[in-house]
Amino acid sequence: MIAELLEKFGIHQAHSGVFAGDWITKPGGPEFDSINPSDGKVIASVMCASSKNYEQVLVRAGEGFKRWREVPAPERGEIIRQIGIALRKHKKDLGLLITLETGKILSEGQGEVQEMIDMCDFATGLSRQLHGLTIASERKDHRLFEQWHPLGVVGIISAFNFPAAVWAWNAILAAICGDTSVWKPSNHTPITSIAVINIVASVMKSNSYGDVFSLCISGGHLAGEWIAQDKRIPLVSATGSCEMGRVVGGKVSQRLGRSLLELGGNNAAIISPSANIDLALRGVLFAAVGTAGQRCTTLRRLFVHDSIETMFMEKLCTAYGSITIGNPWEKGVLMGPLISEPAVEKMMLAIEEAKKQGGKVLAGGNRILGGGNFVEPTIILASPEMPIMQQETFAPILYVMPYHHLGDAIRFNNEVPQGLSSAIFTDSVREAEQFLSTRGSDCGIANVNIGTSGAEIGGAFGGEKDTGGGRESGSDCWKAYMRRQTCTINGGDQLPLAQGIQFDL
Ligand code: NAD
Repeated sequence: MIAELLEKFGIHQAHSGVFAGDWITKPGGPEFDSINPSDGKVIASVMCASSKNYEQVLVRAGEGFKRWREVPAPERGEIIRQIGIALRKHKKDLGLLITLETGKILSEGQGEVQEMIDMCDFATGLSRQLHGLTIASERKDHRLFEQWHPLGVVGIISAFNFPAAVWAWNAILAAICGDTSVWKPSNHTPITSIAVINIVASVMKSNSYGDVFSLCISGGHLAGEWIAQDKRIPLVSATGSCEMGRVVGGKVSQRLGRSLLELGGNNAAIISPSANIDLALRGVLFAAVGTAGQRCTTLRRLFVHDSIETMFMEKLCTAYGSITIGNPWEKGVLMGPLISEPAVEKMMLAIEEAKKQGGKVLAGGNRILGGGNFVEPTIILASPEMPIMQQETFAPILYVMPYHHLGDAIRFNNEVPQGLSSAIFTDSVREAEQFLSTRGSDCGIANVNIGTSGAEIGGAFGGEKDTGGGRESGSDCWKAYMRRQTCTINGGDQLPLAQGIQFDL
């Protein structure tokens, strides 16, 4: 099955991981394997970039930019529309490849490709809406306005858990804005990135544009470090852990570049006494267990009102017991493996640490033996002062705590370093409004009667505090990929100065 699938994307066993208008067939860096997290077997191996290959990529992306920025935005939009069509054709196969490499279940793999398609549709429309403002000038016969220009080569560093969609959030918007991009994907998911570039490159080639989308896979994080330090890259969009964001953001700011950081979350939901319990249960289950707890928006902390805690937790533990865990491409499976053995070890260590800090395991708590990185989704009865809850363990561990006053639950929601996603389940308008008010959730995403994960592309996605403050995908996020120019034209024959300043001889 795997050989056939790779064949469909033109990927051979030791494929180049460097695309600079064309594949660099024998790049000079090391070679590494992409591993299927469900069985530990090699999917294919990848040849990495040397620093010389990185230079080749950057030069091509820079040359590509000079050409691409001249293409009228709606014409760029037409090419992105064609990429959307190509992705539709490959949705099933690309989704399956994502499932193989990440371990996410089939429908989530396909959902990720749908997110890419949605980005293409959104960006196509956007290509006719890169609007600037016209502003009333205080000076007679003057016109004051803003216009937006392409920025240059955008660096994209992406995480393993959304190996294709995060690229689309960035690269598709960047392309609409007239930028070219250089992508450094996670080393857990190189094959997905090669497949994506192959799909996109064939559309670009048929339109005679080679070097808009580049790829640079390196050994370890090397290409990410090159991108972070490279003065030729005005914007670095980096998605991953807070630790990575501190390093990359630090390097980019040292050279006074711009960074767009999409970092870790530590997301919480509140279940109020008025909540629709069936809805809340389903919302919690998908947010906490979906993608095996490996979404930045995964639900990690749950505050349940003390009047319904026993009833709600009984139902939730029963639901956890009926989750089918197994090979993610099999029908009916709801939870696949974690990405790697170290990820399993980190989860087990976090459970041990939580127990030491007073937590009590209510469901799960074990790894599943017999090959692959499978674990049981875990619920731990906790208290808000447990230090382990300040950190994001990228695994399906849900800490549950009772609360009495909504104000306390909102305070607990906010008392972590990260600020990505949050939710409340309630049928009370007053509670919902309190949660959404300025004294409510401090997160970039605040939902009512919806779980913390599963955002649509139309909104701006991202979070506050240690999550990095970046916003990607919909709304007006395109502005991050352009430079704003404020222009004043004097159409008169006088030269009045702003603020009424007189400077006459
Ligand atoms: P990671 O931080 O280990 O790696 C992310 C990317 O950064 C990889 O491509 C990696 O090679 C690169 N990288 C790591 N250290 C680097 C360095 N020092 N210099 C340059 N590049 C470096 O993250 P991961 O394990 O792949 O993904 C999981 C993390 O990503 C979680 O914390 C999750 O919450 C976060 N995430 C956030 C969002 C978001 O939108 N906020 C989305 C997806 C994932």
